[in-house]
Amino acid sequence: MSIPFLSLHDVTALHADEIRDAAKRVIDSGWYLQGEENKRFEQHFAQYVGSKYCVGCANGLDALIWILRAYKELGILNDGDEIIVPANTFIATILAITENGLTPIFVEPRYETLEINDELIEERITDRTRAIMLVHLYGRNAYSDKIGELCQKHNLLLIQDCAQCHGLKTLNSQLPAHNSAAYSFYPGKNLGALGDGGAVVTDDEALANTIRTLANYGSHKKYVFDYQGRNSRLDEIQAAVLDVKLKYLDEDNAQRQKIANYYYDNINNPLVTLPFRLPDSENVYHIFPVLCEQRDQLQQYLSDNKVGTVIHYPIPPHMQKCYANESWNTPTLSLPITECIAREELSLPISPAMTLEEAEQVVLLINAFNNK
Ligand SMILES: *Cc1c(COP(=O)(O)O)cnc(C)c1O
Repeated sequence: MSIPFLSLHDVTALHADEIRDAAKRVIDSGWYLQGEENKRFEQHFAQYVGSKYCVGCANGLDALIWILRAYKELGILNDGDEIIVPANTFIATILAITENGLTPIFVEPRYETLEINDELIEERITDRTRAIMLVHLYGRNAYSDKIGELCQKHNLLLIQDCAQCHGLKTLNSQLPAHNSAAYSFYPGKNLGALGDGGAVVTDDEALANTIRTLANYGSHKKYVFDYQGRNSRLDEIQAAVLDVKLKYLDEDNAQRQKIANYYYDNINNPLVTLPFRLPDSENVYHIFPVLCEQRDQLQQYLSDNKVGTVIHYPIPPHMQKCYANESWNTPTLSLPITECIAREELSLPISPAMTLEEAEQVVLLINAFNNK
């Protein structure tokens, strides 16, 4: 039995008939942008996450870029302001910060949770710090009361990168009211389109309006341009597909949790470390990461046995060529935990289309892995 890391074919097949009907409806309608499908999905998604506003856009990176850009246009952020961010995040989080002329301040994660270490944030706060960019990496809830308190105490914006945590319900009740979150609907995400897509959700009306304008060439009224914007819109086919898949998000996440709990209950190889186990209410398992000092051997061994895996992520942002010459990327910047995770992390197969039989196969192989 061959087990792919992720079969998008199988994920789409779970709801294929309804997805086809939705796409066909748009094709036949003759209306492909900024129509009823976007309106409906935005309404449903805002309702689902418990926010007042949702603004669709072209992808998750743009959603992050638009939040920061809109805060700049509103005079809340300024060039060179510092944004606290976990050092082990996906590059898009950092790209959104640097594209806006802001400065990323890297904070190490905990090895045990892989999320930002809230004990290390305060020492990095300066009089230029304006926001914490919280990333719920791998689908794990990275929020803590301590982070909320730091935002209050130092008057910081709380911006969330939710690209990996669609359906993480506990966030609604925990977070301070004035915050904003970026979502990606990249096909492999927990809520994925059949192409690119993204959205911002917030309770802040001015922020939502500014983003809607920015993502439409900077125009809120035809041929009137308030900002130097871009074309960054969610198309009607993707919105229609997402509206179908949103109905099944909780069900899909429950299947991810079933697979993940099977891994937690049954992987018992001392060479393989699992991150601190969270209750299902705190983890939607976008990715199932494990840590292993012999990571490359483990990956090769699983591949030889027809199990697909991926590394998230092999090179941390501060070690990427694109950031080699930044003033904030000093030679003394030391991020040993981030670099260790990059050396040891391996992501096991997990998806709503995966079966327990497949998980069993993966567990048997991992438990038999003996690197001698
Ligand atoms: C996927 C992802 C993004 C970017 O989303 P795209 O839609 O691919 O642009 C941003 N941040 C994180 C943490 C992601 O995983």
